[in-house]
Amino acid sequence: MIEPPAKPVLLGLLGAPIRHSAAPRMHEAAGAHCGIRVHYQLIEVAEASAATLRMLLGSIRMIGFAGINVTFPYKEAVLPLLDSLDDTARAVGAVNTITIRDGRLYGHNTDTTGFEKALREEIARIGQGPVALIGAGGVGRAVGFALARLGIGEIRIVDRDTAKAESLARDLSASCHAHACADAESACDAAEGVVNATPVGMLPSTALPIPAKLLRQEQWVADVVYYPLVTPFLAAARAIGATTATGRAMTVHQAADAFQHFTGIKPPLAPIQEAFDAVIAARAG
Ligand code: NAD
Repeated sequence: MIEPPAKPVLLGLLGAPIRHSAAPRMHEAAGAHCGIRVHYQLIEVAEASAATLRMLLGSIRMIGFAGINVTFPYKEAVLPLLDSLDDTARAVGAVNTITIRDGRLYGHNTDTTGFEKALREEIARIGQGPVALIGAGGVGRAVGFALARLGIGEIRIVDRDTAKAESLARDLSASCHAHACADAESACDAAEGVVNATPVGMLPSTALPIPAKLLRQEQWVADVVYYPLVTPFLAAARAIGATTATGRAMTVHQAADAFQHFTGIKPPLAPIQEAFDAVIAARAG
């Protein structure tokens, strides 16, 4: 008798818009390398109310998903619908990964662990000097907590919505000296690093989040935006000889960490990187 094939591990991504996401290819590539058949479903639902999100998460649990990633605009909205949060997700106040065990939903934030690992990998020497963080939205919060975990002593936060910058500064204050800055000039003054955590520079945007003249050669400059890989902001930093980190490593590490949460297996990074590069190349071509 022919054995039926093992059931695939069901994973997915909840958010909108997500049709260009590299997540399906990255997770399926990680699974293929670990001998796990993965089916990764895009669950694109726009403008879901709390009631709709509750219903979607209930369905995901009933269908038998091992877990899902969550992206814009639901990373904060799903929080009250989960049974438990890990320490990072609770601190950040946002979830990008939900695992499902015995019918219970657990929230994690691998944007934080992903950015932390990416910066360690990309920037040879991270000191403890001030870092300017531009953007205090979902990803900005995750980056802020990653910077604190990296031992950065002072985080200067700029957001055009000052309430968001102030709220993040308050939440970080237990772990480092964090404060909201009224303008990018004062945030970047003698800063050791500058991080763009806004969507500015993500195509079709070709703008810079802050004026290029605020960057200096001796700084490290990181961008969370990954399309294009070298944003106008990073191009300006490279032009003056600053050390740069693109959004690629963060994307790859957050996917690898999420895969480990879903399956209990730490995947190799190379197939995830290759899958990411193939998606970006196809999108550009
Ligand atoms: P968000 O809308 O939650 O937050 C963006 C924040 O930036 C907002 O608070 C907004 O007020 C602020 N902002 C926008 N323009 C600004 C400017 N010129 N100056 C100061 N503040 C400004 O968005 P998000 O979910 O945090 O996503 C941000 C970017 O991160 C997106 O482009 C997204 O694609 C990218 N992202 C990358 C990864 C990765 O793994 N590399 C993961 C998730 C998201």
